[in-house]
Amino acid sequence: MSYLWKKTEKWNQWCDSKNCPVCRNLPQPDDYVTIAETDASWIEAHPNVPFKGTCYVMSKKHAIELYDLSDDEAFSFLKDVMITARALKEVTGATKINYEIHGNTVPHLHLHLFPRYLVGDRFSDSVIDPRNVEPPVYSGNEFHEFTKTMRERISSALK
Ligand SMILES: [Zn+2]
Repeated sequence: MSYLWKKTEKWNQWCDSKNCPVCRNLPQPDDYVTIAETDASWIEAHPNVPFKGTCYVMSKKHAIELYDLSDDEAFSFLKDVMITARALKEVTGATKINYEIHGNTVPHLHLHLFPRYLVGDRFSDSVIDPRNVEPPVYSGNEFHEFTKTMRERISSALK
């Protein structure tokens, strides 16, 4: 993993929504799953993650920093984060949900949600280091079942 903001030319290009891969709707890897879509966000997951249950809330509006959103836009985005976090805690049985906004590889606002566990949490005494993970964390049909259950929970929460 390399931090795009260290590569000034590419970073500056991608900061402009005309060149941003999210805004340009460039294809994501085949294993990305959109769990839900709201007016403000896409809620997504993919299987190559540090923990089972890791997911993302991706802003539909191009923003680099959270403060680039208006108050109303930020509220809508964070409301989607709260809905996702509640569903995630219920579905995974996690003890705690961690929230991380980086944007180090793609300068388009997105927030990572990580379920943390009392037992079997490989980073129990440290911050999550995605470089220190040996995927896959899912086996068999687990990823499909996770995204299916999350889709059902979030769909009912959005009604
Ligand atoms: Zn963008």
